[in-house]
Amino acid sequence: MSVETAGHRSVRIPRLMRLVESPAQAVDELAGLGRDSSFLIVHAGPASPTGYGASLARVAVGAGLKVCEAIAVSNTDAWAQAVSAAIAKQRPEYVVGVGGGRVVDVAKVAAAQAGIDFVSVPTQASSDGICSPVAVMVDESEHPRSIAARIPVAVIVDMAVMSSAPEITWRAGLGDLVSNLSAIKDWRRAHKLTGEPYDDFACLVSEAAALSVIDDGVSLADPLFREKLVRGLILSGIAMEMAGSSRPASGAEHLISHALDTLLDSPRPHGLQVAFGTIAADLLRGDDPTRLVGYFRSVGLPVCPADLGFDIDTLTLAIRHGPEQRPGRSTILDEVGEPQLAALAAAYASL
Ligand SMILES: [Zn+2]
Repeated sequence: MSVETAGHRSVRIPRLMRLVESPAQAVDELAGLGRDSSFLIVHAGPASPTGYGASLARVAVGAGLKVCEAIAVSNTDAWAQAVSAAIAKQRPEYVVGVGGGRVVDVAKVAAAQAGIDFVSVPTQASSDGICSPVAVMVDESEHPRSIAARIPVAVIVDMAVMSSAPEITWRAGLGDLVSNLSAIKDWRRAHKLTGEPYDDFACLVSEAAALSVIDDGVSLADPLFREKLVRGLILSGIAMEMAGSSRPASGAEHLISHALDTLLDSPRPHGLQVAFGTIAADLLRGDDPTRLVGYFRSVGLPVCPADLGFDIDTLTLAIRHGPEQRPGRSTILDEVGEPQLAALAAAYASL
């Protein structure tokens, strides 16, 4: 959240953002936060596909840092309570969340509830949660809900472990980032129609982050492009911090995705669903998505319902149920009726 002063405002950003290539380098960065500090490293233990959190803890202990560990394998309230209990027992100066989006989010939430500084060490680039003040938690039925947390004080990204993750995680991260283009259109629309407060700088940062990865001829396998994507996802988190909410990175395309999560037996990765939702929302707005569609096809992001394995009727349902996913978030979905849905089907046919 930004802080107003006379004439200016200040925005909290992490004091450190570092891309590294090994656990030893990541530990050096942790040590830079305070060699005498204590760290609670939260990771998925044996359930982790990379074992990176356990490696990091081992290397940190070897380097003489004060480290304890807590296990969290998912982003449920029960795991958050387990991390909270470890925080209460160990009283660390930093909580370090190491893993995929779920582990980072559950550690972020527990750290925020305890008022302890959080360090994000993501092992996948699959969402913009790696540096955001927002976390996604799920209930027993895996239904997600966004909750306010605090932006990390440091983000340490080991590109070597990130690169060992399946390519679909990179594609999902790319989808989550480019979906900002839809989110900011909804924010501008809501500001105009309802007077909802709007933040030019948060929009500027969100849009710049998304546009930074949209280029002809990019390859998801290119290490330099991957670095650009990671930086874009971090910047997207900072846009959310500026706005004090997920508004600059979550609009109609996210509501469609949340509705799909409830409608599909096996939902597709979040980043793919919101990318798909970005095209759907553009079509509902009457905007021409030709350039974005060409880009999506070049990087393997979904464009049409069939690309995600369902039909237009499922999308129609998701659009109808979208607004109820987050009451109060005004988006283009609020204007959709039968004529827009009929036009949508025709528009897909011409893509
Ligand atoms: Zn998202």
